[in-house]
Amino acid sequence: MSSAATTTYVLRGARPLGGDPVDLVLADGVVAELAPVGAARAADDDGTVVVDATGLVALPGLVDLHTHLREPGREDAETIASGTRAAAAGGFTAVHAMANTTPVADTAGVVEQVWRLGRDAGWVDVHPVGAVSVGLAGEQLAELGAMADSAARVRVFSDDGKCVDDPILMRRALEYVKAFDGVVAQHAQEPRLTEGAQMNEGVVSAELGLAGWPAVAEEAIIARDVLLAEHVGSRLHVCHLSTAGSVEIVRWAKGRGIDVTAEVTPHHLVLTDDLARGYDPTFKVNPPLRTAADVEAVREGLADGTIDIVATDHAPHAREDKDCEWAAAAFGMTGLETALSVVQQTMVDTGRMTWADVARVLSSAPARIGRIDTGERAQGRPLEVGEPANVTLVDPAARRVVDGAGQATASTNTPFQGRELPGAVVATFLRGRATVLDGAPVEAVAAGRGVGA
Ligand SMILES: [Zn+2]
Repeated sequence: MSSAATTTYVLRGARPLGGDPVDLVLADGVVAELAPVGAARAADDDGTVVVDATGLVALPGLVDLHTHLREPGREDAETIASGTRAAAAGGFTAVHAMANTTPVADTAGVVEQVWRLGRDAGWVDVHPVGAVSVGLAGEQLAELGAMADSAARVRVFSDDGKCVDDPILMRRALEYVKAFDGVVAQHAQEPRLTEGAQMNEGVVSAELGLAGWPAVAEEAIIARDVLLAEHVGSRLHVCHLSTAGSVEIVRWAKGRGIDVTAEVTPHHLVLTDDLARGYDPTFKVNPPLRTAADVEAVREGLADGTIDIVATDHAPHAREDKDCEWAAAAFGMTGLETALSVVQQTMVDTGRMTWADVARVLSSAPARIGRIDTGERAQGRPLEVGEPANVTLVDPAARRVVDGAGQATASTNTPFQGRELPGAVVATFLRGRATVLDGAPVEAVAAGRGVGA
């Protein structure tokens, strides 16, 4: 990184974490100065770009612990380049790429490939998640140590998409990751209780005649896993919890001192199983959309800290996998470009969380869980002088109607199509380099990859 190659930005009048306006100066890859509005020394220097950030909230760059980038294997749905461009557009500066690719990311070779492609694309830091089991088959432990020692420095391991349902395999994985301070991120879905399941089990599934997915299928695995984590003294992360009972179990486990963290997706903060009534497969997702009571419980759990983070579970799918009847359609929805807006709508605009809380659940906490919060490429750091200049500028007063066709992701399966959402990402900076400016991705990023990175 050379200082000559990095533009100095003065974000004039930005409000860090929604607080009082300041001039936030980004230079040489770090936060260089926090000055009263109009007083930033760097503003007069040659080549400095002054951004009018009046009214904009400055957040530390967002970090997603749960992204499906689909490459290698399903580049028709998403590539590492398109998915990370979408991430930057959504205000992210780092994503964790899930392991359920083709081939599966279960070796040092595959995780290093994903890591390199992410670095070359240049939009965000890509941290590959390693599979827990070989081929996600749930039988044999993958090469966790080799992935941890690789250039990709994997710390998060998950068979996401599938549950590690064998308790012996789960126990071994929890024990193994302790050696390098890793974490097992569990997709909690008891397979026998969800065979053929198409949506949440309840009033709506009974009415529609679709096979139901009971809450207990999620809760039983979480209950087992927190006890396993306690037994072996390891760290557990619960992916996309979706039921009121799951919140209760995690709350109980934390009260007991068990080292567990949990995530909720934006869609589970707002959408319910009523949406299945239209048989639109856009709303088919795993875990399924639940009831209004579950939505209320996950909002409460996020507000009181039981749920540590919001993670997108961004799951792009090619048209042919979604434009079909409900039973045949793939599970999943996109989310990178709407996550911050949904959190603003459900948690900030309702008075349940502050912007400082948003910075915690979408940046500092996911960075800490993924163990990417230290070192030269640290993420999720506070907006203080000397810290890496990973910054997202959001306009909380903006309103926009979501249109999947206009998004940066290569897929159009957004569940918010046609909905008006509050807030818009105006700019994103990765170590002082603008990846998004004036609300649009800076295309030169790809060409100038590595600069300032
Ligand atoms: Zn999952």
